[in-house]
Amino acid sequence: MSTSASKCENIGHSVTTSRTLANGQAFGFIISSSRAMALCSIFCPRIPLRFRPKPISPLLSKPLFSLSYRVYSSLQSTKDELGTVSIGFLGMGIMGSPMAQNLIKAGCDVTVWNRTKSKCDPLVGLGAKYKSSPEEVTATCDLTFAMLADPESAIDVACGKNGAVFGISSGKGYVDVSTVDAASSMLISKQIKDTGALFLEAPVSGSKKPAEDGQLIFLTAGDKLLYEKASPYLDIMGKSRFYLGEVGNGAAMKLVVNMIMGSMMASFAEGILLSQKVGLDPNVLVEVVSQGAINAPMYSLKGPSMIKSVYPTAFPLKHQQKDMRLALGLAESVSQSTPIAAAANELYKVAKSYGLSDEDFSAVIEALKAAKSREA
Ligand code: NAP
Repeated sequence: MSTSASKCENIGHSVTTSRTLANGQAFGFIISSSRAMALCSIFCPRIPLRFRPKPISPLLSKPLFSLSYRVYSSLQSTKDELGTVSIGFLGMGIMGSPMAQNLIKAGCDVTVWNRTKSKCDPLVGLGAKYKSSPEEVTATCDLTFAMLADPESAIDVACGKNGAVFGISSGKGYVDVSTVDAASSMLISKQIKDTGALFLEAPVSGSKKPAEDGQLIFLTAGDKLLYEKASPYLDIMGKSRFYLGEVGNGAAMKLVVNMIMGSMMASFAEGILLSQKVGLDPNVLVEVVSQGAINAPMYSLKGPSMIKSVYPTAFPLKHQQKDMRLALGLAESVSQSTPIAAAANELYKVAKSYGLSDEDFSAVIEALKAAKSREA
């Protein structure tokens, strides 16, 4: 892992600038995301053989966020105590908005930023503060969460112009909950930690509804101290959390989970269409599946709308294809054969080419329908 990390330090020198960080250090490194990503995929780290997932009680624990400038020793998580740590939140998309909203509702002092400013308005209406750049957010907040679309945006928001690294400093924490590849996460970690701040990757399992309900599963890795300090806030947004060790392990776990999910959905789509073609009622298929060993909540949730050819977006198809692509890169890095995922990825690519990127990922079924009609 350390070899990969040191290689990642060299990523992205194609665009260089010099800035002064909040802690006074000179900083001469702004990343060209596409270049960084190309190199990141090459240096994708190997997964350690043993993970030690430790599901932890979703119950709120004490507010442990003890920064070097502040020490919180209170034993109870009252609304007032949660509010003493200023929380930043970058990225008000499908997931980021409800996550930030839950923090606000729990009494946290939340400052938000989003590339498209208007998406911050509902949060400001609920009591959030607004800052006009990631740099300003991290400069004014103790603990900042980032929920961005993909590796490119996560790197840009953390390390690009007016990025989080320019405002953050020793005693603060940065928790990236976006789904990215391990190398990108390690790159962001390096830049954050060079400022003296702590870094935790914490991609989430769970979609729009679990985000709204505070039922996400956090797959964390990185600074253990930050994990402990951030846990009361993770517990507001989620139902469980796993600490997986070194940065990269959380990202890898998330990609493996989503690779499985993407293949499951593609196979389910084939099953629905096959059942229809042989004269079966696909609604009965969904019911049969729901009662057997292959039952998954996803099938019961998405099946009925897939049969009606409607795809209300909870998890955008473009993000599912991104995760398949990154998972295949991970598999490539360790020479693991993943033919099922590779085939499923092709279907998501076809669906994207049909303009379905922003539909729910269950719209992958349309790729099969289109293939069918072309054959006819
Ligand atoms: P989303 O609705 O597409 O939101 C993406 C966010 O990233 C928006 O805030 C968007 O800003 C921002 N963004 C995109 N490109 C940017 C750039 N170049 N610079 C700055 N900001 C940029 O996606 P989402 O569903 O919330 O997902 C966010 C992350 O969580 C993704 O990594 C996804 O894979 C992961 N995830 C999603 C789900 C799910 O079910 N939706 C579940 C688990 C994990 P704008 O508003 O300005 O476009």
